[in-house]
Amino acid sequence: MIPSILPTYNRAPMSFVAGEGAWLIEEDGSRYLDLGAGIAVNVLGHANPELTAALAEQAGKLWHTSNLYGIPGQQELADRLVDATFADTVFFTNSGTEACELAVKMARKYWYDKGETRSEIIAFTGSFHGRSAAGIAAAGSEKMTKGFGPLLPGFTHVPFGDHEAFQAALSDQTAAVIIEPIQGEGGIIPVPDQCLKGLRDACDAVGALLIFDEVQCGVGRTGKLFAHEWSGVTPDIMMVAKGIGGGFPLGAVLATEAAAAGMTVGSHGSTYGGNPLAMAVGNAVMTIVATDDFLAEVSRKAGALRQGLEGLVASHPDVFEGVRGSGLMLGLVCKVPNSDVVAAGYAAHVLTVPAADNAVRILPPLNITDDDISQAVRRLDQAASSL
Ligand SMILES: *Cc1c(COP(=O)(O)O)cnc(C)c1O
Repeated sequence: MIPSILPTYNRAPMSFVAGEGAWLIEEDGSRYLDLGAGIAVNVLGHANPELTAALAEQAGKLWHTSNLYGIPGQQELADRLVDATFADTVFFTNSGTEACELAVKMARKYWYDKGETRSEIIAFTGSFHGRSAAGIAAAGSEKMTKGFGPLLPGFTHVPFGDHEAFQAALSDQTAAVIIEPIQGEGGIIPVPDQCLKGLRDACDAVGALLIFDEVQCGVGRTGKLFAHEWSGVTPDIMMVAKGIGGGFPLGAVLATEAAAAGMTVGSHGSTYGGNPLAMAVGNAVMTIVATDDFLAEVSRKAGALRQGLEGLVASHPDVFEGVRGSGLMLGLVCKVPNSDVVAAGYAAHVLTVPAADNAVRILPPLNITDDDISQAVRRLDQAASSL
């Protein structure tokens, strides 16, 4: 008999009923240190008092009006994102997947309105852009697309890091190139800064738009507000979600005025996107995260965590191969199956998230305390010792 919850997830044997900072708590009071943060979502931890207050205050005033009317919190958050980034304009969604849908539509409409027939989009193997028609077509892996055809046409896939294949795929028919500055689901694989620069130059040479998917790596995770800032390169369109809502469903597409030129009245919409509740939380997240002091703390904590993880790798050479990533978006590359490491973590009451390429993701809340970082390394050491 089919379970009453559609069985698309293979769930761990824990269920949490409360949270507190970097900790999750079961009904019986057992506590787990959460180094997954809901897959890079709970950037300010669980039950953060400032986010809770912002949401509760808005909940008492107004939940939903639709985008038929002005939404003050939406104007405020859009202005903040425009001030803080390359972008001139923002559209709010409820998820990263919806941000992907709009990014693809925006890129195609840009060329349509220029009177060109360009619709091809180049994406990279190992990428993840969501589970919608455009998202799975962009990622292209059989794991996500098998059985769901016919797929949205117009996507070309290039092996991640293969410069020659990329140059061969790029042409005057390329509408856009979509890439995660750090692959998340793919196994925490950063794109070197000089490659992002090379991509930018190559796109400019043929006029193609460059789309960055910062759904997982954005919103302070690398110690900059957005990961691409380290490279000095900016995209034309950027997808944001996960961390921007701190746990409340919220996504966004940021774009330059030029790239967004095709998105005129009536060309796109969302019933819930940019609703007052999401905006209250998104503004509260930005107030805390988008400051130099907070981002400097992320980098400092990232240094401490990385040092601890390097030590862990050194003491368990049979379990781990190495550490990679940036800021508080780290991957432990495993020698044993990564699922064994994640399961051993459950036994040691520390939560991590598996990824492709046999990696285990460490994506803690960005405000994790120094004590919890020490606990994290201790518990991961306990987990590795049990293997
Ligand atoms: C999670 C993720 C998405 C999809 O976001 P949802 O909110 O799950 O729809 C897209 N791109 C990347 C890089 C992601 O990590």
